[in-house]
Amino acid sequence: MRVRPRLWIVPVLTVLVAVAAALPAFSRPGAGEDHRVGAVAPTKAADAGRPVARDVVLAVHGGAGTALRRETTDPRKEKAYRDGLADALKAGRRVLRDGGDSVAAVEAAVRVLEDNELFNAGRGAVFTEDAGHELDASIMRGSDLAAGAVAGVRSVRNPVSAARLVMEKTKHVMLAGEGADDFAARNGLPTVTQDYYWTQRRWDELVKAKNFLKGPKAEKATKGGKGTGAVREEITGTVGAVAVDRDRDLAAATSTGGMTNKMAGRVGDSPVVGAGTYAKNGTVAASATGHGEVFIRGAATATISHLIEFGGRDVASAAYEVVVGRLPRLGGTGGVIALGHEGTLAAPHSSEGMVYGYLTEDGDIVTRLFPDESSSDG
Ligand code: ASP
Repeated sequence: MRVRPRLWIVPVLTVLVAVAAALPAFSRPGAGEDHRVGAVAPTKAADAGRPVARDVVLAVHGGAGTALRRETTDPRKEKAYRDGLADALKAGRRVLRDGGDSVAAVEAAVRVLEDNELFNAGRGAVFTEDAGHELDASIMRGSDLAAGAVAGVRSVRNPVSAARLVMEKTKHVMLAGEGADDFAARNGLPTVTQDYYWTQRRWDELVKAKNFLKGPKAEKATKGGKGTGAVREEITGTVGAVAVDRDRDLAAATSTGGMTNKMAGRVGDSPVVGAGTYAKNGTVAASATGHGEVFIRGAATATISHLIEFGGRDVASAAYEVVVGRLPRLGGTGGVIALGHEGTLAAPHSSEGMVYGYLTEDGDIVTRLFPDESSSDG
């Protein structure tokens, strides 16, 4: 019997292949746009979805926002930022060199940033709309997904240490308000009065935000009630750290005063596990900064981990997709530092700028403030 050539199969196969190729773009929102950097994606095109460094053991950030410009930044201010980030990295380096784990390293690094009034965490935290300070922080351990957080604390000197205590000494994940302040004090953490957090700079920002909201541009900024009511400042100063230790265990921590002129009682993403902070061995340790509401709605840092675990993505492309591909569509900008267990660091941001620094396995410290320093090492 003569077998007839089944030529009809050629166009059918062609259609099937074309449909299969198009499917991932439909099933992964934003995936087809990884390189559409455009206006909302100030992470430079060369960095898009690529690591900024390798062999990193610890990284810190000091917030995102309008970029610091090399031409207009006072050298003293530049030095203060670089020293602030480097001091935090040195504190973490001491811990890691002494055989401490990644949880201890991120806590030590964040404490130094909280004590530095340049940053919006601990001393130097921004003001709420009623001229108070309410601080949020969280910490997460990648080996067992243990996590701790405090929200809206008003008298803890180092909220990240309170978050660690919640993780290690309670069966809960988050304590808020007075209960959190009392818990920290009962466990021996130093307490302060509200004036400890006060700085002239943050006060001026509050006054500016209130004046702005009385002005003609306010309606646009808070349109539809969805705006935060806060003026976006040059580098807002939320802080965070990610680390990997010699056992390859990951950890992450984030601490903030929130957003200038926020409502009293408002809680942002920084203390929310899976939004501002996430660490899971084998995927990523990530700490975020930016419009907290959007990072919560977009489950930012957990989504980075899920894209790696379930989507087969690498750290840099997953972080880029979430921060640049997805979150701006929800109406907010910001950035993350994201570290893989093998030491790959990504630092994508959809805000114009983000300040960050890192420590390599060899003990070298690198700080990055200006957009033109964000070239990829990957
Ligand atoms: N994510 C912080 C918050 O919404 C603010 C920031 O990172 O600038 O509270």
